[in-house]
Amino acid sequence: MIQIAKDVFQIPVTPRQLVNTYLIGSTLIDAGVKFSGRTILRQLGNHKLTAHALTHAHPDHQGASAELCKKLGIPFWVGAKDKSAAESGLVVGAMPNPKHPVAIFEQNFMAGPGHPVDRILQEGDRVEDFVVIETPGHSAGHVCFWREHDGVLIAGDVLRNINFFTTMPELNEPPAVFTADAEINRKSIRKIATLKPQVICFGHGPAIRGAERIREFANRLET
Ligand SMILES: [Zn+2]
Repeated sequence: MIQIAKDVFQIPVTPRQLVNTYLIGSTLIDAGVKFSGRTILRQLGNHKLTAHALTHAHPDHQGASAELCKKLGIPFWVGAKDKSAAESGLVVGAMPNPKHPVAIFEQNFMAGPGHPVDRILQEGDRVEDFVVIETPGHSAGHVCFWREHDGVLIAGDVLRNINFFTTMPELNEPPAVFTADAEINRKSIRKIATLKPQVICFGHGPAIRGAERIREFANRLET
């Protein structure tokens, strides 16, 4: 577990921060793939969880959600439009081509089972000392978590900071094959850039400090 800011920890579930989860206060954000439960619990150590929230219901984020919610008896919070995928466990249906071999692989070998959602997350809702920001595009119900007073943003997959082939840090849009609507996601990139986040925590790759790089990236995007 890597401390990023006050009461904010990154919990990578793979080497090289290829897939990350986060602890904010006592809420776990995202849960890796279906094999990630033990890795997350081991890194949490004595930290008690009171809730589990998702940035979005994709196989590399909801994998261990059901297991952890059941084991720890904690509620499951998900963006409104990702609720049905989170509950059914059929989490690649809204990708551009659910029959793509990569999507089939993710559904069969990475996704966890569905789990009942206890609370839907919408713009302006509070989670710990963060506010929910709706950021659709990568999935319809994708949300970020934003703490204004020190500029910490849990950005999920609106952007990534890794090259999935080299595993080197690289700020980029999420891969098209996993993104329901790339055009709407670009609007969400611009939306989070206007927040001027000082610490940006990604679902994939290491965190970035300072708002400049995300501002430049958003400005370079085609409309
Ligand atoms: Zn992801």
